[in-house]
Amino acid sequence: MVSPEVDVVIVGAGFAGLTAARDLGAAGRTVRVLEARDRIGGRTWYRTDLFDGVGLEMGGTWIVPEQTFVTEEVDRYGIAVSDSELPARMTWSDRGRVLESLLPVPPAELEDLELAVRALIAAGARLDVDRPLAGQGLADLDVPIRQWADEAGLKGNARELLISWFCGCGNASADTGSALDVLRWLAAMGNSVWGMVRASVLGRTFDDGTASLATALAEDSRADILLSTPVRWVRQEADHVVVGHDGGEVTARRVLVTVPLGVQRHIEFTPALSPAKLAISTENHAGQGQKIWALARNVPDDLSGYGWGTRFDYVGAMYTVPDGVVLVCFAPEHDRVDGHDVADVQRAVREFAPEAEVVAATTYEWVDDEWSRGTWTTFRAGQISRYERDLAVPEGLVHFAGAHTAQRWPGFIDGAIDSGRRAAAELLAVL
Ligand code: FAD
Repeated sequence: MVSPEVDVVIVGAGFAGLTAARDLGAAGRTVRVLEARDRIGGRTWYRTDLFDGVGLEMGGTWIVPEQTFVTEEVDRYGIAVSDSELPARMTWSDRGRVLESLLPVPPAELEDLELAVRALIAAGARLDVDRPLAGQGLADLDVPIRQWADEAGLKGNARELLISWFCGCGNASADTGSALDVLRWLAAMGNSVWGMVRASVLGRTFDDGTASLATALAEDSRADILLSTPVRWVRQEADHVVVGHDGGEVTARRVLVTVPLGVQRHIEFTPALSPAKLAISTENHAGQGQKIWALARNVPDDLSGYGWGTRFDYVGAMYTVPDGVVLVCFAPEHDRVDGHDVADVQRAVREFAPEAEVVAATTYEWVDDEWSRGTWTTFRAGQISRYERDLAVPEGLVHFAGAHTAQRWPGFIDGAIDSGRRAAAELLAVL
């Protein structure tokens, strides 16, 4: 009989893995975290080595007080966060034509806008975000964003804006992302449209970057965290698990897997993963877009623009620095704009600020990265109905966490922390 080296091996040092490590360590369990990258934080990555020292979040950035799990951790460790400044005005870009109006539609289309807002709130009111959505008779909403907009009867610019906004929220295309998953944001914000806007790009940011919270969790965990240690296989024996990584093997009583959805199938599990987990990992989720940072001159320092028929669906000013304005830009497909090509980024930004002169641009290719294979989780149309109930279910001695297993905020840092806490409690109940 093997005496396992540790109680739990955790695969992945993103917020889910770090939170679980902290909770298990606090309960006196021995934990080893195996992380493929040479840093912790996963799909959050705060960098200060670009744009002359300006701090840029390449991944997860904004949180809102309604996200109670992350808020609790921020308070626990005294992490400094700041509210976003609300823009004094909005910019709308209709296929590159910048609209100066208060509302994104011409006066003749105000009824369309009202219909869109009513449709949104009526749909959001049907979701109970504290229970699995799969059992709530919501299959008609678990359809591609564009299909839902059409079935809801949306028209004119209001339809275009809503589709583009949903794609922006999901970092997903209108023909893949599930409308239901984006409506979950609305429902989780108390069915408030303004709340949903806040939860996207007007929430709080971390003064010293998301790394400040990841580091606090890692230090508090007392876990052994091995970086640059990709896990290749997980083999269950009768009473323990063997985990194979690039530096060797480790035995544990249980394993917690926190890798992103599309990455899971690249680890060899014995016995194999359940058909449902394997199927969704193979399909991957729809969050396959881009987040690009640009340093630009000749743009308003309060630019906050949504567009439709544009290459970016959102462009907003984050900071003013001596060289210009730092813009954050999102697109729903990962190859829409070349984020390292200043001229290409300038062309896309000019659809929102025609005089813009982009002097620097950067991005991180989360979609091409073998340890993420996507940006934030947005389920594809139909995936919630088919797989939601399977995602967090343990398989023998192997347990699962990661933002995608969370109930309320599966696309967020909050969901990752929620899942790490849930998984740690689940493990403590059996260890
Ligand atoms: P991850 O952070 O992906 O952690 C999983 C870890 O597993 C990674 O460190 C990975 O390297 C590691 N790993 C993978 N494979 C292996 C292997 N075989 N062996 C060992 N380790 C492995 N959230 C917000 O709340 N607000 C936002 O504004 C926001 N914006 C975002 C913008 C972008 C561009 C992106 C990419 C994400 C954004 N998110 C945002 C989402 C948020 O960052 C994620 O939901 C959250 O960080 C996921 O945490 P996680 O621990 O579940 O997964």
